[in-house]
Order: sequence, then C-alpha cells, then structure tokens
Amino acid sequence: MLGYDSPDEVLGHDAHRLFHHSTADGTPIDMRDCHIHNSIAQLTTTRVSDEVFWRKNGTFFDAQYVACPQIDEGYPVGTTVLFQDVTERRALERMKDEFISTVSHELRTPLTSLRAALGLIAGGALHARPEKAQQMLDVAIGNTDRLVSLVNDILDLERMSAGKMQMHFSDVRIGDLLQRAADLQHSTVQKTGVQFRIDAEPVTAHVDADRILQTLTNLVSNALKFSPPGSQIRLIARANGPNEVLVGVMDQGRGIPPEKLETVFERFQQVDASDSRMMGGTGLGLAICRSIVEQHDGHIWAESASGEGASFYFTLPRFAPR
Ligand code: ADP
Repeated sequence: MLGYDSPDEVLGHDAHRLFHHSTADGTPIDMRDCHIHNSIAQLTTTRVSDEVFWRKNGTFFDAQYVACPQIDEGYPVGTTVLFQDVTERRALERMKDEFISTVSHELRTPLTSLRAALGLIAGGALHARPEKAQQMLDVAIGNTDRLVSLVNDILDLERMSAGKMQMHFSDVRIGDLLQRAADLQHSTVQKTGVQFRIDAEPVTAHVDADRILQTLTNLVSNALKFSPPGSQIRLIARANGPNEVLVGVMDQGRGIPPEKLETVFERFQQVDASDSRMMGGTGLGLAICRSIVEQHDGHIWAESASGEGASFYFTLPRFAPR
C-alpha cells in the first residue's frame, strides 16, 4: 500500500519520515504532534481517522489507523500501526455532503418564496387588492409544485440507487410508448406549434413500460423546453443489432456544448445556471433517465453538432435475460 518493494527500503528508517511526515496539503507534522509517536510515549492505544499516509512515489492516500504500543516488561519497545486506505469512503462522504448542501439549497429557494407569498396574503396587506392576492397565490402554487416534483425526483433517485425500485418487465412495443410520450405533451405542443415526427419500426423491447415512459417524458419535455416555436422534435425507435432497440429524441433547439454532453446526466447539473429558473425543472431529470436505462442494462448518451439541436439516445434489451 505504501509502494515499497523490499523490506530493505524501510528497515532502519524512521517511519514518521517515510510515510507520515506531512498533512494532505503538505504542512509538515512535527514529531511531537505525531499520534503514532505519542502512542508509544504515553503507552496508550490511539485511533485516528483523518490523516494521510504518503507512498514512496510521493502520492498519498486517506488513512485510518490504530497505533498500539508494544510493551515488554513494562517498557515500550515499539508500536503496531494497523492502517486502512479510506480514500473511497472519504470521496463518498464528500459527495454526500455536497449533495445534501445542494438539495437544501434547492429546497430552500422555493420554500422562501412560498413563505413570502403566503406571508403577504396572511398579513392582510392585499385585502383591498384581490388581483395582487391572486398573483401571490399563483406564486405559492408554482413553488409548491416545484417542491413536490423536487421531492419526488429525489426520492425516485434514492430508491433507484438503493436498488429498491420495483420493476415490472414485459414485452412492449416501443413505438406505442413514443406515441404516448408525445400525446402527454399535447397542450404544450398546441401553444408552441412544435411538431412531433415519430419514426418507429414495429420493434418490441423487454422493459418496465412505466419507467421507460417516464424516461421518454423527461427527454421529450426537455426537448420541448428548448425547441423554438414551429420546430420539429423527432422520436425514433429501431432495432440495433439482434438484441437491442435504439430509441432517440432529437430536437432543433440550442443544443448542448461538447464539454457538457456527459455532465448533464449528473445530479443538479445544467448547461446554464439559469436553466432551471427560466425553464422549470429540477436538474435531476437526466440523472433519473440514466438510472432507469442502466437498470435495463442499456446506455444513454447525448449528441449535439453545433447549430443542429440536441439528440438523446438510449438502448434497451429486446429480450428477457436468459
Ligand atoms: P432539468 O430539470 O433542469 O431539465 P435535466 O437533468 O433534465 O434537468 O437536464 C439537465 C440540463 O441539461 C438542463 O438544465 C439543460 O441545461 C440541459 N438539457 C437537457 N435537455 C436538453 C435539450 N434537449 N437541449 C438543450 N439542453 C438540454
């Protein structure tokens, strides 16, 4: 773990100088502050979980260790250090902390606005101005809807990543799902004059129909958000080799810059920080899509040639696994 090849490289050397000389940012650790040395000096077992150990090649890993003094006839003769590389666990903890801080921010923003709108109404200041009061109620409802969909999305993701989402597989004609996803957007389409074009081969896939419809609905409603009035959204489904179905949702909107094609699938990642405010949405839609597709052993990705809109594709299995 420390990268040494033979005992000769370490025997007779000072352990502190070899692998415990400084903190992660390079600040030297004085021997007097060294827990390992102190465990010998004070004859106490010490547990430490927030330090790093240095490798021979100058890199380090997050270490957790127990230093246990060895005593012979009352005298300290050395110490046993049991250590563990906890780099991955630390990375997970950091991710969890970041996730919680983003989630609390995302929850607090609509709640603050909801509180302000209700406060104005409850304070009576708008009694004589019913149209203004109505406007505040609309703000409150909008923010409540946003909170509900955010909480639903977070719970969905959580259940999926814990593998607790019940899946109901059956053979489904993918063209039918494309049609249903398009039909669900009927009212928005009428307002914006965006047209759907569905090119579906009569293929079936072995999927959870509700979850795939949820994926398509996410992709289609994203495509609609970015589609200029009067433009076209293409939905395709075709056999992709003997075992897969390829599904695509292509729009003629502003597209996605190449460096964002992968990150948009991460939680709360947007191309533009203002996207969720301007366009609605939680920033979790594509993370949910990816999770659903992966539970079907498929892949999902985005393509976007400059000036030609965005295309999202995913693959699904045609048959039940044997
Ligand atoms: P949101 O709830 O913000 O839509 P998503 O995870 O569904 O969250 O999408 C993440 C981001 O990816 C969006 O905020 C947007 O910046 C970008 N995006 C998604 N679909 C498209 C699209 N069809 N055209 C351009 N950008 C898109």
